[in-house]
Amino acid sequence: MEKRFVYADNAATTNVSDNALNAMLPYLKEQYGNPSSIYSLGMDAAKGVLNARKQVAEALGAARPSEIYFTSGGSEADNLAIKSASEFGAKNGKRHIITTNIEHHAVLNTCEYLEKHGFEVTYLHADSDGIISPDLVEKAIRDDTAVVSVMAVNNEIGSIQPINEIGEICRSKGVLFHTDAVQATGQIHYDLQNMKIDMLSLSGHKFHAPKGVGALYVRSGIPIESLIHGGAQERGKRAGTENVAGIVAMGAAITDAVEFIDERNIRLAKMRDRLIDGILSEIPYSRLNGGRKHRSSGNVNVSFRGIEGESLILALDIRGIAASSGSACASGSIDPSHVLTAIGLDAELAKGSLRLTLGDGNTEDDIDYILEVLPETIKRLRSMSPMWQRICREEGITDYTVI
Ligand SMILES: *Cc1c(COP(=O)(O)O)cnc(C)c1O
Repeated sequence: MEKRFVYADNAATTNVSDNALNAMLPYLKEQYGNPSSIYSLGMDAAKGVLNARKQVAEALGAARPSEIYFTSGGSEADNLAIKSASEFGAKNGKRHIITTNIEHHAVLNTCEYLEKHGFEVTYLHADSDGIISPDLVEKAIRDDTAVVSVMAVNNEIGSIQPINEIGEICRSKGVLFHTDAVQATGQIHYDLQNMKIDMLSLSGHKFHAPKGVGALYVRSGIPIESLIHGGAQERGKRAGTENVAGIVAMGAAITDAVEFIDERNIRLAKMRDRLIDGILSEIPYSRLNGGRKHRSSGNVNVSFRGIEGESLILALDIRGIAASSGSACASGSIDPSHVLTAIGLDAELAKGSLRLTLGDGNTEDDIDYILEVLPETIKRLRSMSPMWQRICREEGITDYTVI
């Protein structure tokens, strides 16, 4: 098969869709006003932001557009949610936070920061499929718990968390519930008016809007505290001239993302399952990371014995396949992924992991290509790998050059 380019890293970022690009272009060129200006050019920009706020609110099933606060992305939304909730909790003597050991670093490092500032954090453990049990949440809640933060969909292994059940528990105990839903947009149906979610983080570039724009949904009545001080933008909760073009693009992109969720999930899950089955049957000593049930429709995460993830990514890149090993934030560091470690992998298997995440741009031809390239790449890397040869010796695998 001839070389092609296959982008299989949609959990890292996505391209900007035509609809998002077309929506934003006028706000970069003709409608470049500052939304705070009172003349027409400024008011046009303000209208663009207002329209996007309505689109986001509608896509989330939120009660009103004023529940949406635009941010610079998912990381800022996570920081805003958890730091605000903790600060308000502390005013009432509540200095306990509950989160999980599989969160994105935007949540984990925020919690770590708060630990240094007098908060106590409970990290709930995911099971071997990468799922957080609602029972664990219930047992961990204390009188002094300020906030619970559990992600909706994991970015590495695609595990879909029971956020409805967790939300019910938090609401019944009077504790604020935040969810990092950055990987969930276009994957799960939102109905925030009826879901027991108090705060929810989004990031535009994970669903075909540009990088550098995101949002935090905050249920009305829940106080938040600004992290960025300055002008009165975002009702005084997030100073700084709005990223008008990015916000407008996000409004268009989220509308598209939520329109065909079921169709998308069916299409992606079919490709995902063919990829998983093909890899596990074609490549010896491979395993799937995370469960098959409650798995995001585009996520494949596998580990290969005797393989170094980083080398695999580079070898695949030469063949035109863009993928990742663990999370993008974890690569470049020598530590194995905290998520794979949390679900019980040893360091060798965690480092020998490959994440392929499919999105709207992928086709069945891409799957064929990956299934052709990957087995031969693994075989070649193993034939050169002292680690693989050691494993073969230790485990009595004789035919290691063949596999
Ligand atoms: C990408 C991602 C983030 C960070 O979003 P940015 O917009 O890149 O800051 C946070 N949480 C999860 C689960 C993510 O996948």
